[in-house]
Amino acid sequence: MCGIFGCTSLKEGVSKLIYSSLKRLEYRGYDSVGLATICNGHIFLKKDQGKVEEVERRLSLSALPGRCGIGHTRWATHGAPSKENAHPLTDCEGKVAVAHNGIIENYLELRSKLGDSGHKLRSRTDSEIIAHLIEELLNKGLTLEEAVRQATLTLRGSYAFAVISPLCEDKIVCVRMESPLVIGLSRDYTCLSSDIPALPPDVESIIVMNDGELAVLTPHSIVIRDLESNQQLPLRIVAKESVTCLADRGGFTHYMIKEIFEQPQAALNVINAPRYYIVKLAEELVKSDRVYLIGCGTSYHACLFGSYVLRSIADIDAQPVIASEFSESHVKLGKDVAILAISQSGETADVLQVLRSYVNKDVKLLALTNVMGSSITRLVSSYVGLYAGPEIGVAATKTFIAELLMLTRISIEVARIKGVNVDLISGVESILRSSPKLIERSLTLNEPLAKSLSVYLSLKNSAFFLARGVNIVTALEGALKLKEISYIHAEGYPAGESKHGPIALVEEGFPCIFVCPHDETYYKILGNVMEMKARGAFVISCVEEGDKEVRETSDRIFVLPKIETKLLTPILHVVPLQLLAYYTAIARGYDPDKPRNLAKSVTVP
Ligand code: GLU
Repeated sequence: MCGIFGCTSLKEGVSKLIYSSLKRLEYRGYDSVGLATICNGHIFLKKDQGKVEEVERRLSLSALPGRCGIGHTRWATHGAPSKENAHPLTDCEGKVAVAHNGIIENYLELRSKLGDSGHKLRSRTDSEIIAHLIEELLNKGLTLEEAVRQATLTLRGSYAFAVISPLCEDKIVCVRMESPLVIGLSRDYTCLSSDIPALPPDVESIIVMNDGELAVLTPHSIVIRDLESNQQLPLRIVAKESVTCLADRGGFTHYMIKEIFEQPQAALNVINAPRYYIVKLAEELVKSDRVYLIGCGTSYHACLFGSYVLRSIADIDAQPVIASEFSESHVKLGKDVAILAISQSGETADVLQVLRSYVNKDVKLLALTNVMGSSITRLVSSYVGLYAGPEIGVAATKTFIAELLMLTRISIEVARIKGVNVDLISGVESILRSSPKLIERSLTLNEPLAKSLSVYLSLKNSAFFLARGVNIVTALEGALKLKEISYIHAEGYPAGESKHGPIALVEEGFPCIFVCPHDETYYKILGNVMEMKARGAFVISCVEEGDKEVRETSDRIFVLPKIETKLLTPILHVVPLQLLAYYTAIARGYDPDKPRNLAKSVTVP
């Protein structure tokens, strides 16, 4: 899940450009950072454990000399976060420096072979072997690109990496195999990056590399080859518009809170998204007897929501499955089955793994993602973008709301084609149209209470999020947000099920957060609120404007705009829970944009 960036330029000062791109990549990993450049026949290397800006203050990464270099922000998979394990990693003789994203599965076997032939490995990473394998081949007289190519052919796993060497001062050789990698072209330089939003603003066009490709970059040339056959491939250059979506905090303290407040705009973007692609995807769904919705984390919660809207609005048999649990012993595949993959980044390894195993088989592959040109979009026959703009906060917020709204739009189009649920559609459409305003109101009504409750919640070790029906999605997402950024144990649970176990934890002052719009489950959930109150729980409820009963039984209430079609209430009721998680993380002194152990796009399976 690391971020890699490299640049070869006609001008000096490439380390400044690499450093600023690493800052944009930091959300992919932030336990250590490093930068290496080539100058006057030597590798200049600085790296250490810590966040990009901290290490810059200590080591001045951006002051390294030279016109060609690579950088890395790490999310450790093999070897603890430390200076030795930070990338770039070098070989024994300083012939190459390597920055790697992904996992080399057969590294133990390769490491022991390298050890036998006298190589001294200094880190505990799987990545360092790449540098030594290349060194071995360079010593046999191969050119840098051929040494990289042949070394890569011995690797197993998912990876992308970039290599520089004093043997070719202006060259970067990079490889992509199941981990994302794009090349950026500018007037004065050529660069590579793990993802598009990290590319510098003056990049004019891009090439998205495919798996199994090797690229050789100089400031004024790019050659791409097939790794296996070594054949040169045509360059697939795409326009610069797709690379200009850069993000900044726009005056907010953190990306997460900025993105929470961008949700009305994200909703508007979904409403205005071109209908053409949505109809195309809907047509594929209409032809399917069954749909599996696959995703991870927050996107899995969107899958759960998708199964409700596809069933209720479009009469489609839709089943949500956690991507890493997708197996044929548990799902039934066949000609009329579709897999709809949901991933904010379009690079989630667990989702990609499922899609890759059904390419060219009798299953329709479809996707919903925020990143056009991502790996997922290139594996499926039809996809729809979320148009949410770049999301940098590790905890997904605006992409979640965009996923829910887009799944609703897709369901409407399926229902239209099938000619079903005409009355329901008109109600749903009117809520969709007013969703930007409704979300805006949910934010302003609830921010003050979220702030004040966060102080109370920050002192707790555990909390329950309970709901019934479609709002189980909201409860699960509320609990996930709280645990991922404030590190408070939180459990999202069906309220009716809570008496079959979880209630044992409830004692005086235990926080129970209920989601209770006035839908068909209302009186049942009111009973669950009473049960928890009777055991001393501190009850915080999300209710609709005008609510009486739950309001009277709860200690505190978040009030949400009342909507007629209760199926869509998660879109509003999740908003106070996002705010509560954000302010609780702040109250506990944590950085919500960089939660420990997490990274934005999970590119390791
Ligand atoms: N496996 C490498 C390491 O631990 C790269 C990790 C990654 O891409 O997440 O350093």
